[in-house]
Amino acid sequence: MVIAVGLKNDYHKIPGLKRLLDDPVSPVSTIYSPDYCSKCWCNLQHFQGGHAVFTFPKQAGKCSGAAQKIMYLAHDYWTRKKIQHCTSISYATAAQALFGVPKYAASLVKVAQQRDIAVNYSLELVEVTPKHAVFTGCGDQTTTLPYKLLHVTPPMSPPACLSTSDLVSDGYLSVDKHTLQHVRYPDVFGLGDCTSTPNSKTAAAAAVQSSVVSRNVVSKLNGRQLSARYSGYGACPILTSYKGGIIAEFEYDKKICETFPFDQSKESRLCYYLQKNIFPILYWEGIVKGKWSGPAVLRKIFHPFGK
Ligand SMILES: Cc1cc2nc3c(=O)[nH]c(=O)nc-3n(C[C@H](O)[C@H](O)[C@H](O)COP(=O)(O)OP(=O)(O)OC[C@H]3O[C@@H](n4cnc5c(N)ncnc54)[C@H](O)[C@@H]3O)c2cc1C
Repeated sequence: MVIAVGLKNDYHKIPGLKRLLDDPVSPVSTIYSPDYCSKCWCNLQHFQGGHAVFTFPKQAGKCSGAAQKIMYLAHDYWTRKKIQHCTSISYATAAQALFGVPKYAASLVKVAQQRDIAVNYSLELVEVTPKHAVFTGCGDQTTTLPYKLLHVTPPMSPPACLSTSDLVSDGYLSVDKHTLQHVRYPDVFGLGDCTSTPNSKTAAAAAVQSSVVSRNVVSKLNGRQLSARYSGYGACPILTSYKGGIIAEFEYDKKICETFPFDQSKESRLCYYLQKNIFPILYWEGIVKGKWSGPAVLRKIFHPFGK
């Protein structure tokens, strides 16, 4: 059995959030669900200035970079609309850094600074009211930020079909981080966001994992050793404006694993065009159809002698 049931959004963990998400006139939205993406775009368009707050939870879920992409795009959009002079943007993250890999965190800190975005670390969203976002910080202290626009990255967890089964430990499908075989049930394999593997939860990771799982399932069925190993590869393309972006690529233990022959942590137009024009084809024609199992071949072409 191969399990890949993804993650669900746990809106209920933040009192007030679901009601405001469902209220069509509230300025609260999230791009982490197709149910609220259109509302998010509407809110960005109707924003007339004031304090815009973007949040990121302690329990990181799928594509943690998306929480920032939407903020940088909003910043650029409002700059083009010439309302940046009456706009302030805060990014409130429960994490201690802007990104889990220091090389990319350093780059994103610069991006935020250049755009005058106030980054507040160790702030976890715990309640939303119609005008305020309430956070807990270090200790018992709470911080309240007023907002005119709020974008929430909700906490996430695997769906109940998985979390209520004995296949999980700490809430996630418990698999070996290299073979992706279940740690207790050898006939069970897992991939994607729902597993316990300590990689960045992205489609890029799931694509590489699917190739590892398919090879290991064949080995298991034929009584052979499981030889395919997942290195922890994940990629997080982050648009930083309507003309720039970076592409984070890394493996377990924050090991950098860039594909292209340039520094992908530096904002560039090329990264933007790759994300806008090439990656959607890769996602829809390659990953979803099971034809793309990661950029390893490309990396070998660009770096024939290794990095
Ligand atoms: C806003 C946003 C931007 C992102 N940007 C990127 C990006 O640029 N690059 C990137 O690589 N990744 C990105 N991601 C992350 C990427 O979408 C996920 O990591 C990827 O979809 C995970 O794949 P998955 O198959 O594990 O889970 P999912 O894609 O969530 O698929 C799980 C499927 O299982 C189904 N399911 C659940 N329960 C059951 C059940 N009991 N029985 C049968 N089926 C069930 C669900 O309905 C769902 O269809 C982004 C995510 C978001 C939300």
